[in-house]
Amino acid sequence: MKIDNFFTNYSDEQSCKLFFKQKREAAGIVCRQCSSLCHCWIEKENRWRCKNCKQPMGLKCGTVMENSNLSYRVWLWALYFMSLTKKGFSALEMQRLVSHKRYEPIWLLMQKIRISMGHRDAKYILDGFIEMDEGFFEGHRKRSEEGFISQPVKELDRQVKAIVAVSTRPVSIDDQKTYRPNTRAGYLKMNVVSSLNKTEVTYEAGNMIKKSATVVTDGRRCYRGLQDICKVHKEIIVQNKEEVSKVFPWVHTAISNAKKKLSGLHHHIKDIYMQNYLSEFCYKFNRRYFGENLFDRLLVATLSSAWYEP
Ligand SMILES: [Zn+2]
Repeated sequence: MKIDNFFTNYSDEQSCKLFFKQKREAAGIVCRQCSSLCHCWIEKENRWRCKNCKQPMGLKCGTVMENSNLSYRVWLWALYFMSLTKKGFSALEMQRLVSHKRYEPIWLLMQKIRISMGHRDAKYILDGFIEMDEGFFEGHRKRSEEGFISQPVKELDRQVKAIVAVSTRPVSIDDQKTYRPNTRAGYLKMNVVSSLNKTEVTYEAGNMIKKSATVVTDGRRCYRGLQDICKVHKEIIVQNKEEVSKVFPWVHTAISNAKKKLSGLHHHIKDIYMQNYLSEFCYKFNRRYFGENLFDRLLVATLSSAWYEP
């Protein structure tokens, strides 16, 4: 949707509410009690009622907006802004854009949208040829009153670890270019892990890849369990650091781009929220060719299930 059309059509609360209502009715409303698809809208109560079991269904119920007191306008505008650019906005910028007086609800709104993005991407499992590596991301460090970083307590000093996997496909010989990888990146996944031990990495990788996949790693010990969960596991041990980007071109590009985005845009990301930011990065990367359609896709992802439901 073009930016001028959007703000002309959805400038007030009523038009935004109507937009959500129409979108949800077009997708079909499913009763949470009896799974019936037949509902009637009760204007006075501002909700639907199941024709079968009379269970009410609020307009925000079963969507990313569930249990939120924010207006429909704030939600719709935030969803639009989050799909508008590749890099995204910080919570403070978003607060200004949607003209809301408080920071905290807007920060929470953005986290819920990021969680919904992560749930959407979790439905897709990587297959084919996959590059896999581990990424280390800077979490927030506590500072003392003087502004210095506090003593490096073991817990505070660690980085957030994530398993990163990118599916790739070969480029035909005619399309190959000098200084460019001879593969194209497909789908990206980044899953945070608490430690890089074999059991956890194998479990997390199992959620990311299909059994028919061929996975290439750098031969680290934690990847030893991959041979049990994929068709082929290739270990390529690269001695020269400059060669790494040739052997794993996409996974390293993805990790460094994610780091640049996080450090440039967001500050003080706590460890427990890192997955949400990585989910947003992956969601946008995986839909990088969608252009204006990204807004519609984000609406489908956020309106089809509650933010806490996978
Ligand atoms: Zn029902």
